[in-house]
Amino acid sequence: MNMVEVAINQPCCSGCQACVEMAPEIFAFDAQSGVAVVITSPCLEETAHKAAAYCPDDCIDIIE
Ligand code: SF4
Repeated sequence: MNMVEVAINQPCCSGCQACVEMAPEIFAFDAQSGVAVVITSPCLEETAHKAAAYCPDDCIDIIE
């Protein structure tokens, strides 16, 4: 299974938490800053792509 690095473009993040619901093993919500943060990187490529597709603001960057 391929692993990829993921990063969140935080200024673009609305804090909707869709990525946290989709992949809680990779993303968490930081209540203090009001945006999502990456807690596991590298992570599984398939899950990372699913979460990136789920983000309504297209803020999840995948570094292959
Ligand atoms: S899905 Fe996108 S906009 Fe929503 S919390 Fe995650 S990174 Fe932010």
